[in-house]
Amino acid sequence: MTATVDDSRKYFTGSVGIEGNMIVLVADDDSEEDRQRVEEFRAANNGGGLREVDGRGKLLMPGLVNTHTHVAMTLMRNMADDLPLMAWLHERVWPFEAQLKPHDITVGARLGMAEMLLSGTTTLVDMYWHEAAVAQAARDTGIRAVLCPSFIDGERMSEFERDLEETLAAAEGCDTLSVRPAPHAAYSCSAENLRRAVDLARRHRLGITIHVSETLDEQRIIRERHGCTPTEYLRDAGVFSVPAIAAHCVHVTDGDMEILRAHGVTVAHNPQSNMKLASGAAPVARMLAAGLNVSLGTDGASSNNDLDMWDEMRSASLLGKLTAGDPAVMPAYEVVKMATVDGAKAIGMEGMLGIIAEGAIADLILIDTEKPHWYPHNNPISALVYSAQAHDIHTVFVNGREVVSGGRLTGLDTLALMQEVSAVVSRIEGRL
Ligand SMILES: [Zn+2]
Repeated sequence: MTATVDDSRKYFTGSVGIEGNMIVLVADDDSEEDRQRVEEFRAANNGGGLREVDGRGKLLMPGLVNTHTHVAMTLMRNMADDLPLMAWLHERVWPFEAQLKPHDITVGARLGMAEMLLSGTTTLVDMYWHEAAVAQAARDTGIRAVLCPSFIDGERMSEFERDLEETLAAAEGCDTLSVRPAPHAAYSCSAENLRRAVDLARRHRLGITIHVSETLDEQRIIRERHGCTPTEYLRDAGVFSVPAIAAHCVHVTDGDMEILRAHGVTVAHNPQSNMKLASGAAPVARMLAAGLNVSLGTDGASSNNDLDMWDEMRSASLLGKLTAGDPAVMPAYEVVKMATVDGAKAIGMEGMLGIIAEGAIADLILIDTEKPHWYPHNNPISALVYSAQAHDIHTVFVNGREVVSGGRLTGLDTLALMQEVSAVVSRIEGRL
């Protein structure tokens, strides 16, 4: 079974052919002409060592796009829970992060990327600092990454420009890596520093990513300081004049939604992080009705506490229905698109990524559907959102390269990686 996430043909039984990093063949078993094309593809490629993956009992779909995370925060998983956002940041997260060296970030990022690939996520948008260290982990694991060096006002600001240059250099020449500046949020960045980031984005022809209206506190602080909403403040600082991803947008007015829509901003919805930190529920059904592009993100593993996009899809649908008081909103197909097509749109790769079509990039995942929680095979799209589990992922291709095979990473020793993570964390905790 192939779920294309293409509205013209949502799913079918057939074959998909890859050459290099591209999908070159999408063939339906029900079509005589397509069956002929499969035979021709086989004949043309057999001399060149064609590798065939048997998809029987499995479902093929585009890899998932996680549009908001802080992947190295896997190091803080289950370290500080059940606290309010500001206390959580000031008392636990920031002191731990102050101890992190670039190599620690690479180790934490590798762990998060291993978790992502094994659960079918093939692209992440990562916001952190020392993103060159995250770039190294992306190269090690083979995942596609949008690397977003972040800053707040104060000393972190002076490091930001160097961080951005280093990240651009680290991504150079690698077609699975791209870069975006990432101001942290409206409450932690002055208008002057926001404008600096926008100028840099424009100079390098990059987008931007930023946290927007995550909590009521943020709403109140910006209202007191500037007499407007965070969205209005960011618009006035020019943040939405370049392609932007706005993470969270939990507390937004109708006027804010119109600003985001008019500027083509993508909202990265993080339902599990918002629920766990009791930030609130983003009005996603209303955003979709207003014509906004909404993608999904897990946020960091310290506020979720995993990087599982299947969990996120299910939570997005359930929370959306509960918030709207309407079981018909956020239907399964719409949510699958948020995790694929709309995520690709968020990073400017619409039509190239997040879809199975000839001419698109081969970021693909094969899901084992021969499991009790998949039976009976009534509706594969519903199953993806309401029944699928992260460990159903069998095979993963990123940019045409097989990075997970039979549920195992092909290029990384998972056991050694987990041991290295434990060593890094004990060393840092010893210093706190
Ligand atoms: Zn975040």
